[in-house]
Amino acid sequence: MRRKSKKVICGDLEIGGGAPVSIQSMTNTDTRDIAGTVGQIKRLKSAGCQLVRVAVPDTEAVEAFGKIKKSVSLPVAADIHFDFRLALKAIEYGADKIRINPGNIGDPKRVEQIIKMAKERNVPVRIGVNSGSLEKGIINKYKGVTAEGLVESALKYINMIEAMDFDDIVVSIKSSGVKMNYEAHKLIADKMPYPLHIGITESGSKNSGTIKSAVGIGALLLEGIGDTVRVSLTGDPLQEIYAAKEILKAAEVIQEGINVISCPTCGRCRVDLVNISSKIEAVLKDINKNLTVAIMGCEVNGPGEAGEADIGIAYGKNKALLFKKGEIIATLNVDDAEEALIKEVYDF
Ligand code: SF4
Repeated sequence: MRRKSKKVICGDLEIGGGAPVSIQSMTNTDTRDIAGTVGQIKRLKSAGCQLVRVAVPDTEAVEAFGKIKKSVSLPVAADIHFDFRLALKAIEYGADKIRINPGNIGDPKRVEQIIKMAKERNVPVRIGVNSGSLEKGIINKYKGVTAEGLVESALKYINMIEAMDFDDIVVSIKSSGVKMNYEAHKLIADKMPYPLHIGITESGSKNSGTIKSAVGIGALLLEGIGDTVRVSLTGDPLQEIYAAKEILKAAEVIQEGINVISCPTCGRCRVDLVNISSKIEAVLKDINKNLTVAIMGCEVNGPGEAGEADIGIAYGKNKALLFKKGEIIATLNVDDAEEALIKEVYDF
């Protein structure tokens, strides 16, 4: 069962309150490079990103943020550290959400100014607590960075902002350790009502980071925890969207998109299935249809799995069988099979 959370609205995106778990990412361009950042946001949107966060480190960046916001249709969150004036400007320029770590904004009166303006403009605020920037007092109290410490820090800031009569809040408590991340979310889940932005912080490069994120995010989703997801990877943020979609599909949180099943191959395999399946997956990954597609390497186990899928192909000796909903619809030359399968998916 999904954890119940309060609904928060960022632009046209609902987070929490039973809304589907959303996928977000963060640009890695220099925010001052307006054209580059807008281009990346548009690519992220086409790949399935539903909310994008943009770093706003200085006044030049916040001026660029205003122009970027006007040029894209995706909801945009401004990521602000240290300088409360940047948050005020970003809200003025139409930010759909503000991400702050109240601990590094300094004087609570400055946080209060951000909250006051966010309230006037109906802009939600994400309170982000992170294992890498936990305050010293809490680290000393718990003798290191711990799940309990992360939760105490997050609850302290939630209480502080609630006392400012504001509840349009999204919470994130991220750790780079999967286990600590899991424990912290389990601890906080029933201690406050706000939606949770989940992910593993600084998880790493495409390969190791995707696995860490799959374990960390997947474990929480299976517990019903998590309202919006960001897979953090070092590299092109488009990879974050592809990885997030696969994690949400594997956890059966979303059904949209093509679920590709391909066999691991063995000594019976009749074709270069590794190459074939990665080419087919690359073509199918942006198709928004709720289908299972099977790509199988031989006539022994292939027809069974291919027949179970919505569309499937089972390679055999010099030929391939194309299945649709359990029926063989064509016997093809091996070289024609890939294209025929892709066409069936488009036509389905
Ligand atoms: S489908 Fe055939 S080739 Fe693929 S793993 Fe199974 S037995 Fe091996």
